[in-house]
Amino acid sequence: MKNNQLIINCPIGCQSTLYETNIVLPTGNLLKCSNCGHIVSSCTHDDYEQSLQKWNSSEGTFPGKKDYDRYQQVITKRLLHAKKLIQQKNLPKLLDVGCSSGALLSIAKNCGFEVFGVEPASDPAKTSQSKGFNVFHGFLREAHYPDYSFDVIVLFEIIEHVITPLQLIKECERILSPGGIILINTPNASSYTARFMKGRWEGFDLYKMGGHVSFFTPGSLSVMANKSGLKIKRIETRNIRFYENGQVTKLFYKSAKIMAQLLAYPVKMINQGHDLLCYLSKN
Ligand SMILES: [Zn+2]
Repeated sequence: MKNNQLIINCPIGCQSTLYETNIVLPTGNLLKCSNCGHIVSSCTHDDYEQSLQKWNSSEGTFPGKKDYDRYQQVITKRLLHAKKLIQQKNLPKLLDVGCSSGALLSIAKNCGFEVFGVEPASDPAKTSQSKGFNVFHGFLREAHYPDYSFDVIVLFEIIEHVITPLQLIKECERILSPGGIILINTPNASSYTARFMKGRWEGFDLYKMGGHVSFFTPGSLSVMANKSGLKIKRIETRNIRFYENGQVTKLFYKSAKIMAQLLAYPVKMINQGHDLLCYLSKN
């Protein structure tokens, strides 16, 4: 084990050892839990702190102009599906954990939710507050929301950044109303992309992704759900990739991208995509 290593035990609470995988990154080989298959970074505390700085800007994770329409389309579809699952017509309460500068909160408001956010990075938290959103600046556990406060809780691209995801999900379960839904979106560490690209996949990259340290599979997500008193209502995956831009020649990259687009549908059908989305409810 390295000096000052960030994650020493499986963050899902298994009492088993972590072994080294053949996925090699600049911060060291990724580690895998021998019990649940969950994969974690072997980076140090210093690496992690430094990588998180990427998100402390006033724009936060707000999508660029070019990507906004697609983002809005995808998020709207997911939120409306969650709304259907909770079967509550009158202004259900939605909490976006890691709401950054409020991109999802705006869309959720348009979908008919009363919206709340939590954001630990100060600059994006200020931006979303200045837009008039009810946003708590800090970590979720510090917000001390009462039990059963929210009908929908959203964690999009959050749990892979967190050192103690089990505690975070348990807190979400506590503040979720009976019949409520938690939506989780995270990279799929057992996808075809992860298996083909290994250490070349950006999803595993600590610095490029601003602090990715915890990598779920549908299996490890289900173990975490069970331990938190939640059950998986629906799980879906999408997308496959073979190369990141710049790893091969432009022509080769473009051909591989076309191939990936052709394979997107079958990959989705057999749940091997690298973008994992999960709807959870209380047990
Ligand atoms: Zn484990």
